[in-house]
Amino acid sequence: MAEDIRKSGKCTTEGDPEAFFVPGAAQGPNKIFCFDCPVIAECLAEALDNRIESGIWGGMTERERKALLKRRPGVPSWRALFEATG
Ligand code: SF4
Repeated sequence: MAEDIRKSGKCTTEGDPEAFFVPGAAQGPNKIFCFDCPVIAECLAEALDNRIESGIWGGMTERERKALLKRRPGVPSWRALFEATG
């Protein structure tokens, strides 16, 4: 579940959870917080596979995820893709 993965992430143990749900362009600087999170790949896969539209997930902003999904519409499982590519 989406919330479960975040419970294992840095945003739950450190920082301000609200910072991940600021609007639009304000998300850009805040995504840096994710870059050393131990579950960054799982978090991003969760958001992409479940088409979660709001907030920063796995170091990507809403806009970045939307653009990625538009560029790669045929990926059946982002989780499987990330696991296969390590
Ligand atoms: S990658 Fe970012 S949003 Fe996801 S759990 Fe880690 S700190 Fe939270």
